[in-house]
Amino acid sequence: MVACGIGYDVHRFAAGRPLVLGGVTIEFPLGLEGHSDADVLCHSIADALLGAAGESDIGHLFPNTDEALRGLNSLLIVRTVREKLTAMDIVVVNVDATLVAEAPKMAPYLQGMKANLAEALAVSPSRVGIKATTNEGLGFLGRGEGIAALAVASVERK
Ligand SMILES: [Zn+2]
Repeated sequence: MVACGIGYDVHRFAAGRPLVLGGVTIEFPLGLEGHSDADVLCHSIADALLGAAGESDIGHLFPNTDEALRGLNSLLIVRTVREKLTAMDIVVVNVDATLVAEAPKMAPYLQGMKANLAEALAVSPSRVGIKATTNEGLGFLGRGEGIAALAVASVERK
């Protein structure tokens, strides 16, 4: 059967950290606060995949109390989740995600994010959708306090 899952994540901006989204380091004065590299896009996709598989969220797999995970490259989280699904005989059909941020402009980086995520998920880039939008100046995202990401994933379960 085909199953789908949803993921949502948000991280606040922090000075003195690199901004990493979909494994791409983006030229920007602020990074995101977090225990890992705070890659909000990877986290939302990992949660969507885990949801589709009926599993607990990434906080269970990668606790933010684990010092060994500090600064972790979140593409590794996505890869580990995909490997977990493979071990459960679950195949990724597609993922689609939207980044929500007033800045930076994401367009120049979307293809790189897509390529990184396709590689981590072991699927064709045509099965990975990565989009970006602003929050039209509204609320915490509109004030530029952080970046949010929403994702859906569909998987084939035996
Ligand atoms: Zn996160």
